[in-house]
Amino acid sequence: MKVNVAQLLKETVGAARSADLEGPLLDSDQSVLGTVTGELKLTKTDRGVWVSGPAEIVVSSECSRCLKPMEYIVPAQIDDEYLPKVDLATGARVRVEDRDADDADTASIDDHHDLDLTETLQQYRLAGLLLAPLCREDCQGICAQCGVDLNENTHDCEDELDPRWEKLRELLR
Ligand SMILES: [Zn+2]
Ligand SMILES: [Zn+2]
Repeated sequence: MKVNVAQLLKETVGAARSADLEGPLLDSDQSVLGTVTGELKLTKTDRGVWVSGPAEIVVSSECSRCLKPMEYIVPAQIDDEYLPKVDLATGARVRVEDRDADDADTASIDDHHDLDLTETLQQYRLAGLLLAPLCREDCQGICAQCGVDLNENTHDCEDELDPRWEKLRELLR
């Protein structure tokens, strides 16, 4: 998930442009973690590029109750400054040690002037992953006894329950 900022880096401080994000979010071994859309604003700063704006990551999953495939959206709000590895004026490599301590883990713009949002988006995805996603709020799940999808099928398991369990079930309620 890269945005090329070569042109923007040549402009004056304060220059801004928008960038649409659209495409797959990949992890390090190229498997798809989700699909990203977003509308970002890129602003030239004295040191690099400030990126801000909303994005959405559509994550494929399965419903934790009925196990049907489903998708849900993890929102991301990007608001970060990205610094070039190469000094804009001199072309010299900016050494990480030369930056402020605060910037040690600041995201970088690579030698091709690509600003890589992958790691930022991966972090949002990780933070937004649902432990128990539901295809819908009131998903009925599958019957523990016969396995039918309770959203779609009727079944008569309830009637077949041994009445002796009824007392215990009441206690558990
Ligand atoms: Zn479901
Ligand atoms: Zn059943």
